[in-house]
Parts: sequence; C-alpha cells; structure tokens
Amino acid sequence: MNAHTPWTVKGATGDWEIVVGLEVHAQVTAQSKLFSGAATAFGAEPNSQVSLVDAAMPGMLPVLNGECVRQAVRTGLALGAEIHKWSRFDRKNYFYADLPQGYQISQLYHPIVGEGALAIETEEGEHAVIGIERIHLEQDAGKSVHDLHPTMSYVDLNRSGCALMEIVSKPDIRSPAQAGAYVAALRQLLRYVGSCDGNMDEGSMRADVNVSVRKAGAPFGTRTETKNVNSVRFIMQAVEVEARRQVDLIEGGGIVVQETRLFDPGTGTTRSMRSKEDAHDYRYFPDPDLLPVEFDDAFVADCLSSLPELPVAKRARYESALGLTPYLAAVLTAEKDTAAWFETLVAATGKPEAEIALRAANWVTSDLFGALKRLGKDISESPVSPAAGAELLALQAEGTLSGPLAKQVFEIMLETGEMPGAIVEARGLKQVSDTGAIDAAIAAIIAANADKVAQYKAGKEALFGFFVGQTMKAMAGKANPAVVNERLKAALA
Ligand code: ADP
Ligand code: MG
Repeated sequence: MNAHTPWTVKGATGDWEIVVGLEVHAQVTAQSKLFSGAATAFGAEPNSQVSLVDAAMPGMLPVLNGECVRQAVRTGLALGAEIHKWSRFDRKNYFYADLPQGYQISQLYHPIVGEGALAIETEEGEHAVIGIERIHLEQDAGKSVHDLHPTMSYVDLNRSGCALMEIVSKPDIRSPAQAGAYVAALRQLLRYVGSCDGNMDEGSMRADVNVSVRKAGAPFGTRTETKNVNSVRFIMQAVEVEARRQVDLIEGGGIVVQETRLFDPGTGTTRSMRSKEDAHDYRYFPDPDLLPVEFDDAFVADCLSSLPELPVAKRARYESALGLTPYLAAVLTAEKDTAAWFETLVAATGKPEAEIALRAANWVTSDLFGALKRLGKDISESPVSPAAGAELLALQAEGTLSGPLAKQVFEIMLETGEMPGAIVEARGLKQVSDTGAIDAAIAAIIAANADKVAQYKAGKEALFGFFVGQTMKAMAGKANPAVVNERLKAALA
C-alpha cells in the first residue's frame, strides 16, 4: 500500500522508523451545542453562550442535537467509513476547572462511525492511504484563562459543550510529511463536507499526535501523545522532534514511557505534561441521561445524497473529462469555493466544457488569482463575476481579443466593473486581423529599417522578434499576433 523508502531518524545504532497515529478533534459546524441550545459562534463575549446544561446546574438534562449526528454521519460517509446505526454516549469522568459537570460525555464503547480510510499525497508527490479507526462525538470543555490576572484564573464556558468529532487514525503514518498531508487532506474533506470549518487558528481543528519509534521490522514501540497541536506545520514539527527525542532517549539507555506531552511552538520542543491515563482510570460508563442514538437506512441515504462531489473525485474528473493538468486540477479543487467558481465560469461560457476548460483554468489560476492576491481578496469576494470572466474568455476564444488585449481588458474590468464586451466596444480594443492594415504597418517598418532587414536576410534570425515588436507597437498592440507573424515571414522572405 505505502511502497516507498521509509522516512527514518538516523541514530548512533542505525536507522529508526517512526509510527504515527493522529487523533483530530474537529468542532462540528452547527448552530448550537451538542446537548444544549446555546450558540457556538467563535469570538463571543466570555460566558455569553452558556446554557444551564453547559454550566451543569443540578437537574439539567442533555438533549442530543440532531444536526451534530447528521454531520458526523456525513463525515463518516465522506471517509468511506462504516456507519453505526446504533451508538451510545458514555461518561468519561475527570476533574477539570473548565469542565463543570466533572465528566465529559463521549463515545468510548460504541462510536457513531467505524473504520474508513483517507488517501493522501505529500508535497513530494508520495501517495499513501491512511486508515481511520473511528469517529466519535463528544463535548468540548471550556477554557481556562491564566494570563488576565496575576493571582487568579478565569473560566470561559462558551466552548463548553460544543460538539467535537474525534477522528482517530490508525497508526499508519510514517513520516512528518505524511502527518502533514493527512491533516491537510482531512481539513480539505471536512470543509467540502461542511461539517467543520477547519479554522485551525481558532481551534476548530486540533490534533493529538501519537508517536513511537522502532527498528525496521520490529513491533511497535511505546507511544507518547502530544496534545492539542493546532497547525499543520506544528504537527509535522512535533512528529519530528518527538521521534528524535525518543531515539536519543533509547540510544542513551532510557525507555520511552507512555505519557501525555505538550508541544511548545516557541522552542519547537515537546515536554512532559502528565503520565498517560488508561481508559479504566476514567471510570467510563453509559450516560444514564441519554438514550442510545439510533437511525435507519433512509437517514444514512439522505446524508449520503447531501454530500457534494468530494475532492478526490472532482480532481480526477477535472483531469479526465476537462483535460486539465494534474497541477491545475489540484489547485482548482483545493477549496470547494474555488472549484464552484471555476465550474460556474465554465458553464457561463456556453461552450462545451472540454473545449473551454483549459483556457478557463489557466485564466483563473494566473490572471484571476494574481488579481485577487494583489487586492487581498478571497475568490468569494472577486470583483469580477464568473459571467464577466466567461465573456472575456469567449472574446478571446473567438479571436476578438488577443492574449495581451484580454489582459488589458481584464484590468479595466477590475477597475470599473464593466463587462468585457462593453469595454471592447467603447474603447475599440478589438484585435485587428485585417491583413491590409497589418501589411501597411509592416511595409513602413521594413522601409525604415533597411539595415536590420539586410542583417536578418544574412541569417540573423533573432531579429524576427524585433520586427514583430515594431509591428505590434505600430498597431497599438491590437494586431492579431498569428497574422503578424505570418505576414512578416512573407514580407521578409
Ligand atoms: P487514547 O485516547 O488513549 O489516546 P485512542 O485509541 O483514542 O487512544 O488513540 C490512539 C491513537 O494512537 C490512534 O491514533 C492510534 O493510531 C495511535 N497509536 C496507537 N499505537 C501507536 C503506536 N505504537 N505508535 C504510534 N501511534 C500509535
Ligand atoms: Mg488520545
């Protein structure tokens, strides 16, 4: 499955392979919390989105939010995973200042989603398939704030009770690059599905990074778990430094202990936080306040039909049906919004997809992306609509605009918001293919440059570009380049 040279850590005693499994916590996109009606918007005033259930007032009872169940099932289906039509919530008991219940409601024994898989590709183009162990639903905890007061800590319960999907990978990851690619692919998939916004800097997606090392062919070593790493780069870094630390430790005569560690982005190191608890330490038991979660095949079918075309399928279709290069297909499918914009553009041209797609793809990824970058805008805020872009592409395809003229018209579109057809009409920017006008310009240039004509005829072929440039200049950039080339060749022969 993963046929490639393994990534290794070089040690004094030889090469060490690494084994990595990731537990990704993804906040479910939903208006309200997993078991209460409180809002979930990011960045609200502290403790302004807390219901009596989230604050764990005595006698309050949780009520399951159906939307969160739906999002977990949709995510499972997108990962080709087993969907469990019967699942159950358990209490995981532990004390935490920002967890007023004294337990977290989670799903240890009967998760809602079982085994699946995610195909990944690293930046170096290495392909692998990473197994998914399970996805379960659970509550998030609140947040303790330690840096606002010299002697006291604050607690913000806004996040308390928000729904998380814990997406647990199998220990199939074998390098920092694969770990990064896995998280990036998962984030892309969640954003396509719409079950998590993937905003890692807001904490909507964070990973517990499990790492162990071994000699080739040896059984798995003891793992450590580095908690709550919140960017792709930090995840890759955490894998790398933790593997290095373990190798040095073992080679120095020590042993790796199963423990929970913290990653410090400032120093790029991990440090011990606490020894790792086992499941039995948490005294898990079925939550008596909640019924098991049950749904039927019709619900699953409905979730399935609500899924959009997913990135892998879309990318393959862009290559096979639209004739795009693998690079263009990857760039255009990276984000769902970009792909949607591109598809609207292609449809708006009214031309057969396969005929216009490559031109459209090149235009979007170079001209449009360039302009958006310059303007600091997202594609959803593009000042040029897909319909206007389509008109521009059509004008170019039918020969009214040359490449350089199309660029000129595009700049005017960005500035004025006018449609390209109107710009061409109002400013006379049509490409000239009329041989009469072009021949006249060529004749004048040949007459004025007798010395260069002689040199060209004597074999200095590089001068051809000079004549093309002069002709285009004389025609104010509007001459059809193909016609100019052809007529110049004839005139200079
Ligand atoms: P826990 O909640 O105790 O961390 P989970 O089953 O939720 O347990 O997650 C365990 C994670 O650790 C999984 O992602 C799994 O792939 C990974 N893992 C298990 N064994 C190893 C190992 N020897 N080396 C690295 N990762 C491992
Ligand atoms: Mg864990």
